[in-house]
Amino acid sequence: MTDSFGRELDYLRISLTDRCNLRCSYCMPAEGVKNIPHCEILTLEENARIARVMASLGVKKIRLTGGEPLIRKNVVRLIEMINDTDGIDEICLTTNGLLLSGNAAALRKAGLSRVNISLDTLDEAVFRRITRSEEQLDRVLDGIAAAVEENIATSINCVPMAGVNDSELDRIALFSEKAPVDVRFIELMPIGRGRTHKGISSAEVLKKLEERFGKAELLPNDGHSPAMYYCFGGFVGRTGFISPMSHKFCDSCNRLRLTSDGFLKLCLQYPQGIDLKSPLRNGCTDRELADIISEAVKMKPREHSFCDTDMTDKRKMVQIGG
Ligand code: SAM
Ligand code: SF4
Repeated sequence: MTDSFGRELDYLRISLTDRCNLRCSYCMPAEGVKNIPHCEILTLEENARIARVMASLGVKKIRLTGGEPLIRKNVVRLIEMINDTDGIDEICLTTNGLLLSGNAAALRKAGLSRVNISLDTLDEAVFRRITRSEEQLDRVLDGIAAAVEENIATSINCVPMAGVNDSELDRIALFSEKAPVDVRFIELMPIGRGRTHKGISSAEVLKKLEERFGKAELLPNDGHSPAMYYCFGGFVGRTGFISPMSHKFCDSCNRLRLTSDGFLKLCLQYPQGIDLKSPLRNGCTDRELADIISEAVKMKPREHSFCDTDMTDKRKMVQIGG
């Protein structure tokens, strides 16, 4: 499936829920968001069907996200269903890690290829401040340990923010010193509550890390991810930078996003897209669903333009899935 700019779309991010067990200050408002009624949220079978139709159109990689995807019951079953789908090579999960340690083995067995775990701080008090919760940071750290233990390819995602976690970035980068884990620093995007924080550019973070660990070697692009990867001397894992603000990667964008209520979003920033839930629930065939999707992707915008705030989707990141 290609869009009108010749980009091949082979990656679908499925948000399983707009609910979360944390309330990160850069992702959602303190009062939370108005939750989508349960009956409007796609069932796991509906998600699996969309994954199957997407696979028939050339999607090879699926990422489950949220809200917090692991609060959805039977995620393991969904991964099994997607894993049984012809054409899907990779099933990934983005999670805050709180519920990972007890589930890592079952997720791997079901077919999970990779997990990205969000970790913005190693300081318990800062964790509580960012996440506006009383949860224990240790549960996230246990989740990371469990994923590594289960040999699931593991990345840690950190969003650097001025005055919040800027003094800890080197300590977070150290996760890839001894373990085969990629630590990726993601530039804060001015979507929803992201606008209320001040991000730090990838160049600044790299500079800080090089001051501490010495010159990093830039690794060849693996072609699968928008991240630029580096290796610090003696580190087992890689250090990555995802830079949507300072280095747009829209030219090679291969992504589509499905919200938890079945809206196919064509670009992270803009609201354009199409409702798939109604045709799905009105009895359309797989062929009809495939035609709706193929037609919709022609509207995929060329690129984001975050200064264009009026045109930005009003959904918060927790409702989109990152
Ligand atoms: N709850 C899961 C988690 O935290 O990993 C999955 C959903 S969360 C919306 C997905 C990713 O989006 C997280 O890594 C989070 O740090 C990131 N994120 C949220 N708001 C962001 C923003 N304004 N800019 C950049 N990344 C953001
Ligand atoms: Fe929840 Fe993830 Fe957003 Fe934090 S970043 S509030 S864990 S969805």
